Amino acid sequence: MSASTAEKINLLGLNRVQLEDFFESIGEKRFRAHQVMKWIHFFGVDNFEDMSNLGKALRTKLADVAEIRGPDVELESFSQDGTRKWVVRLDNGNCVETVFIPDGDRGTLCVSSQVGCALDCSFCSTGKQGFQRDLTVAEIVGQCWVAHKSFGVPDNKGHRHVTNIVMMGMGEPLLNFENVITAMEIMKDDLGYGVAKKRLTLSTSGIVPQMYELYDRIDVALAVSLHAPNDELRDELVPVNRKYPLKDLIAACQEYVRKFNDSRRVTMEYVLLEGVNDKFEHAEELIELLKDVPSKINLIPFNPFPNSGYRRPNGLRTRAFQERLQQAGFVTTVRTTRGDDIDAACGQLVGQVQDRTRRAAQWQQKVQQKQNKIPLHDASANR
Ligand code: SAH
Ligand code: SF4
Repeated sequence: MSASTAEKINLLGLNRVQLEDFFESIGEKRFRAHQVMKWIHFFGVDNFEDMSNLGKALRTKLADVAEIRGPDVELESFSQDGTRKWVVRLDNGNCVETVFIPDGDRGTLCVSSQVGCALDCSFCSTGKQGFQRDLTVAEIVGQCWVAHKSFGVPDNKGHRHVTNIVMMGMGEPLLNFENVITAMEIMKDDLGYGVAKKRLTLSTSGIVPQMYELYDRIDVALAVSLHAPNDELRDELVPVNRKYPLKDLIAACQEYVRKFNDSRRVTMEYVLLEGVNDKFEHAEELIELLKDVPSKINLIPFNPFPNSGYRRPNGLRTRAFQERLQQAGFVTTVRTTRGDDIDAACGQLVGQVQDRTRRAAQWQQKVQQKQNKIPLHDASANR
């Protein structure tokens, strides 16, 4: 009898070693993993029958015990500036968003790691949604798979549209640590998405203990959501700062540069909120704070969402802030807003998800009510 879908192992979520182990466990040679990885991640195949370099018997055996199951695409939108956004639906009805941003030869995919986020940064719409759950490895990698497939099979030279990946979508990647590490291993692998370590960036709000653990486990680029130059303001904007204050965060950033001991720098992300953290004195404090951290600064003009209570500073103010940091010797860029016509800009990843997430929660409660005959609660109470 065939195994039901629930019992089948989803090969999309296995890194190279895990896939080799899987083949060994079913009595096959380990190198089969390499063939299958290429079919999955390079050719975007989800059917063992299409894997023409595997014998019929192996294909049948695989279909019996395994599957390749990416998330369903609920919506794919195209911005006028070439940005694409996918709303992908996960098994239990939750949705997350993935964004592709083309820029010349470069194509950056912004990937989500959690449904919602528990950290509640005051300017972030994902944070306002609250935390629902961690994504599995297959769900994280599945976002790359969906994006890759939507561009069609790469040409003979293996040119891929996705050249860079940033873990900057919904959620705090370091709070879904193991799954994010395995997913990034697949992203880096030549048989996976072949993204070079410098082109794979993890962005964190500063979960200090996991930052050190990250360095021990994998070599990727590091971005830190700084957003404030002192503890008082950062406590307000990024509440996790109360647990891991700036002194500890800065030490963790210094350790990153020391450990890998090359020319790399930490990217400091700084969302500009008018009148809140964009004044001349903030720039001065920031210069002092970062004087001993090899870093570059990425200013992100605030992307508004309903009832946020914040405003984006105008271009002149933004430019003045940037110039002050540049005068002090910091490479400082201003992130251009991309894809805002399809709500794909930083911090906007929530709108369509929230409606569906709420619908999914209501649906689940209805099912539960049927089963248990319990009264319905307000599905949005904890949001
Ligand atoms: N949780 C991680 C990664 C996801 S957020 C982190 O916080 O680093 C990705 C980036 O978008 C972060 O730098 C975040 O601070 C920024 N961001 C969040 N909301 C924003 C908004 N409304 N406007 C501009 N940037 C925002
Ligand atoms: Fe979470 Fe990052 Fe948003 Fe903060 S900015 S709430 S850590 S997703």
